[in-house]
Amino acid sequence: MTKVRTRYAPSPTGRMHVGNLRTALYAYLITRHAGGDFILRIEDTDQERYFEGAVDIIYRTLQSTGLDYDEGPDKEGAVGPYVQSERVKTGIYMKYAKELVEKGEAYYCFCDKERLEQLHAQAKDGEVAKYDKHCLSLSKEEVEANLAAGKPFVIRQNIPATGTTTFHDEIYGDITAPNDELDDMVLIKSDGYPTYNFANVIDDHLMGITHVVRGNEYLSSAPKYTRLYAAFGWDEPVYVHCPLITDEEHKKLSKRSGHSSYEDLIEQGFVNEAVVNFVALLGWSPENNQEIMSKEELIKAFDYRKINKSPAVFDIQKLRWMNGEYIKNMPEDEYLQRAVPEVKKAVSKDYDCEKIAMLLKSRIEVFPDIIPAIDFFEELPDYDIEIYTHKKMKTNSENSLEVLRELLPEFEATDDYSFEGIQKLLTDYIAKKGIKNGQALWPVRIAVSGKQSTPGGAYEIMEILGKEESLRRIRIGIEKLAK
Ligand code: GLU
Repeated sequence: MTKVRTRYAPSPTGRMHVGNLRTALYAYLITRHAGGDFILRIEDTDQERYFEGAVDIIYRTLQSTGLDYDEGPDKEGAVGPYVQSERVKTGIYMKYAKELVEKGEAYYCFCDKERLEQLHAQAKDGEVAKYDKHCLSLSKEEVEANLAAGKPFVIRQNIPATGTTTFHDEIYGDITAPNDELDDMVLIKSDGYPTYNFANVIDDHLMGITHVVRGNEYLSSAPKYTRLYAAFGWDEPVYVHCPLITDEEHKKLSKRSGHSSYEDLIEQGFVNEAVVNFVALLGWSPENNQEIMSKEELIKAFDYRKINKSPAVFDIQKLRWMNGEYIKNMPEDEYLQRAVPEVKKAVSKDYDCEKIAMLLKSRIEVFPDIIPAIDFFEELPDYDIEIYTHKKMKTNSENSLEVLRELLPEFEATDDYSFEGIQKLLTDYIAKKGIKNGQALWPVRIAVSGKQSTPGGAYEIMEILGKEESLRRIRIGIEKLAK
């Protein structure tokens, strides 16, 4: 059996769109599942779209998402170069284009911009302007004379005017296109560079790619690729065209959503593993519908034949939930590394930032959630005494005042502001007084935080604030309640 070889073939044009990340991931999962090779090929022949630094973004993203490739520009490999602009220099694209010209499957075209623009202008509304095969009728001598005179040219694919072309996609099934709807697309541009449409076929063949995974925006061009494979007498790869990814309004996921690229998501506090897990489930799910899956589990379960063809909705709430699960299960040191800088954004006083961060490990969905949750450490908010009243806890402003008044001298008398020390003091008090836990813990927590809902309870918060600040806040509470 042929070894499975897949590739990720990004164009370096900027941040990595979630759709591209999914393409890379699916190609990776197919190959790792089958024990094959994963190849990185940089498609940089479109000089106009080239973006400085974009190649580094590709490397960085693949590295941080753990999509390790076996062959690529910075790796050894038998079928390089792995950057298209370098492949151009080897002359392969021109060689294969000329071979097609010889076979009558392609032809030189010398039409100038004006003529092509005219063709565009003549196209009826909603119709794609097709090239009219004008140069196909040039004789061999005319072509040679033009070439000798240095006339600019492109090489176009020669698609038959009649008949149909059929190709098979693993997700969409057999697709048949009438040939008269297919344009004689440019294979080699006037600058001598191949178009994507040509280079992808040549490269996928020469690199021994067995499965091509890409977005479904390429479905309409696929019949033209099929004709190229046939013209060369090459076997076609297995095609896996992935469904569209939409935002919650069912519009194509775009920059407007604010989270269309991998980098956006990382900047918003999502963790790599959660993003990878989430992206894997955009259009595919394992048979048992498991949602939290490690990379190893994904590799084991992934089956490209089960990719759904209906559009995948990017549900940011689901990603947030998933991210929260990853944060919960994250090793403590890794968590602290990311959480402490967030804590420091909200707390400048000399508190134990690691302790504050740990209060939130199982409560946040993304790291920036930390900031609003801990603002009370820095400054006691100006709260309303109504929040001392809690039906279930059986507290109100009178009994809260009583509890705080009784506890104040006890807190003043002790120097043990450790979690255990405070816990013991409060538990003893509750037992002695014969009240419910909440009747003492609720008012104390309100007094030291000024908030109804806080990460951590009275013990944790007091331990972090320390004696002086805790007492100051309890006195403020008493003052407010006594008014
Ligand atoms: N360079 C193309 C892109 O970035 C790759 C498409 C493909 O995978 O064939 O969209």
